Amino acid sequence: LAVPAGVALMAREELLDPTAGDGDDELDAAELARLAVMAAPGPSGDPSEEQVASLRPRTLDEFVGQSELKRRLSVILEAARRRGQAADHFLFAGPPGLGKTSLAGIVATEMDVTMQVTSGPALERPGDLAAILTKLGDGDVLFIDEIHRLSRSIEEVLYPAMEDFQLDIVLGKGPAARSIRLDLPRFCLVGATTRTGLITGPLRDRFGLVARLDYYEPDDLRAIVVRAASILGADIDGAGAEEIAGRSRGTPRIANRLLRRVRDVAEVEGDGRIDASTARAGLELFGIDSMGLDKVDRSILTSLCARFGGGPVGLSTLAIAVAEPSETVEDVYEPYLIQQGMLVRTPRGRVATAAAWRHLGMVPPPSAMPGAVDPSLFE
Ligand code: ADP
Repeated sequence: LAVPAGVALMAREELLDPTAGDGDDELDAAELARLAVMAAPGPSGDPSEEQVASLRPRTLDEFVGQSELKRRLSVILEAARRRGQAADHFLFAGPPGLGKTSLAGIVATEMDVTMQVTSGPALERPGDLAAILTKLGDGDVLFIDEIHRLSRSIEEVLYPAMEDFQLDIVLGKGPAARSIRLDLPRFCLVGATTRTGLITGPLRDRFGLVARLDYYEPDDLRAIVVRAASILGADIDGAGAEEIAGRSRGTPRIANRLLRRVRDVAEVEGDGRIDASTARAGLELFGIDSMGLDKVDRSILTSLCARFGGGPVGLSTLAIAVAEPSETVEDVYEPYLIQQGMLVRTPRGRVATAAAWRHLGMVPPPSAMPGAVDPSLFE
């Protein structure tokens, strides 16, 4: 594992997920190192890190939900295994925390190969990518997180590598420059992106499977909470798991984080057992409301409604109002608010719906009522 890649990956985690830096999120340095040598995990020496890391599903069977995607993946992997070939290249798209990195690790485990981890912004020059590609073993998985942030020059190195397993290296400059071609092992590229729209056509076309991960259904999230609780040794009942699942914004990473916070509350203020009322008390303590919205979500809606009369307001103005980077608002917060029907993106800016006004306990103005906004304005 190249250190700069890991550092960049973590930086992105914190950027896209402002609470990710709370010290106990899954994707820490130990986890990255473990992912890189999935086939041979060594003792990290720190039991808490070890325990947190183990929440990440390692096999398709452990991966809860997304059943259609799992079936497709399992067919592709099984066929590759039977033919004794490397798996085809995969692109996973979707908001942060839905399991893209976990799936990359699962591909490596299921194919019994090693995984190298890097990310789009960490690869600055074509040489950075060449260094990683030439280190790969036969069939290995190369995971590139945030693949939409690869520069054009690096993408161009990637095309022949993905298609023909060849690397073109230019030696020298000017008229004396010459290019040599190196054979690469047959590797499997797994790309992850929060923005499919930003992936160029030629790159997208070179993946054998492009899959979009959707927010999880409450039943799947409940299963994820129950699984994580049993790994962490937390005592939780069905109602407690349901309460946490219902407020996890459809996202496994958030479900696991809320479980850990609620477990803290149950241990410090109760007898350690997590039932519906402990879960509610814990979630309230950490500012998670009945719909799973946190302080930033509510601040986005409050700014929109109270300050900007429900919109439309531009993304950058909204981001400044809530003191978050535009990218975080757009990638982390908005997708769920949109999915919940509380916010809509229009070419003139973001608009709060009647549901948002009501959620904040305010009366929606007539302009926010369904049908009041000209649908042709929407993207
Ligand atoms: P992404 O790469 O999409 O941001 P990750 O793969 O890092 O998401 O997932 C974040 C965490 O959520 C994982 O460490 C794991 O604990 C949990 N998780 C994600 N998807 C699942 C799933 N389908 N089943 C169980 N746990 C999951």
